[in-house]
Amino acid sequence: MQELRFRYAFVGKELKLLENVVLLVDDRHIVSIEEVSEVDNSLLCMPGLFNAHVHSADFPLRGVRTDSLEMLVGKGGIKHRFLKNQSKSELKRSILHSYNEAMGMGVLGWSDFREGSLDDIIHYPVENHNFIPFGRPTVDEIEDIPDSTCIGFRSIRSFDADTMILMSRIIAEGGGKSFIHVSEGNSIRKYSFDMLNRSDIAFAIDDMHVDALIHITHADSADIELMEKTSTPAILCVRSNIFTNSGLPPIDELLDRDIKLGIGTDNAMFHKLSIWDEMKSLVKIIPYDRILSMATVEGADICGLDWGLNVGNSNFMSISLPAKIERRNIKEWIVSNADYTDIVDKWSSTDE
Ligand SMILES: [Zn+2]
Repeated sequence: MQELRFRYAFVGKELKLLENVVLLVDDRHIVSIEEVSEVDNSLLCMPGLFNAHVHSADFPLRGVRTDSLEMLVGKGGIKHRFLKNQSKSELKRSILHSYNEAMGMGVLGWSDFREGSLDDIIHYPVENHNFIPFGRPTVDEIEDIPDSTCIGFRSIRSFDADTMILMSRIIAEGGGKSFIHVSEGNSIRKYSFDMLNRSDIAFAIDDMHVDALIHITHADSADIELMEKTSTPAILCVRSNIFTNSGLPPIDELLDRDIKLGIGTDNAMFHKLSIWDEMKSLVKIIPYDRILSMATVEGADICGLDWGLNVGNSNFMSISLPAKIERRNIKEWIVSNADYTDIVDKWSSTDE
């Protein structure tokens, strides 16, 4: 049993700021949380960051630039040509490099869109259950999808409509989750209205019953209303949207609604997998409390993980606070000033 003492801690799902906190920890899991009269250090304890949407395998392409989203990540584009030619051992190295980068930055879990066949997730090289692969089974593999498999659809154009519906149903019946990229660009929305007579968001919710929507850059009010009505969460990747010139999601409207939101860095080729930088990109548009929640407990919850400083949980870290910081400024400082260099220690539920 280990006794950890912190001047401050963000406790529970609400990230309530408590002072003078002592955690008893056994095998990296919290056994008790107590407030005491004084703790003589300047450490903050907070949940690990959670990257709710990443593509880890395209890491070696980092630095590549082009103005066209289609050229970058579309079918037959730079990224897909690269992934097709990556050997199994290169692929493994790429994913592990992304994983090590994320862990080094205090990102203690992710949902990773893997883009090969079922084999890619069965042989996923990261042995940490907080880092969840979302696979892309082929039509031929439908019968062989193991229980608990999660799927990450490229878009509503991945298969014909019936196959999309069938696949997401099989995933749900097996206890897995279905996520999908939606409305990232206007062309996929136009395609959806032309072919399915409604938005890709409406199709993904009403027909596929997906567990989360990625991007929603061009969602309209009807989509957002439907998301709230069906409790369908969204994962925002704002730095990616800026990088690919896709526009920005309707954040004000989303904040007005009771919709769970997570944060993702998207493609490892675009940026470092830094949720710190994602938080900074949101400071002018989202309140600090909400950003912190999206970057930790809320994002992890969308992916099915119990996160946050609670008895029984793990996945937290200590941050060195500036000596002169006042209590009321701590959340603001974490969101808009802190980064991975302020991390003092990390406790992950999976031993590395
Ligand atoms: Zn993506």
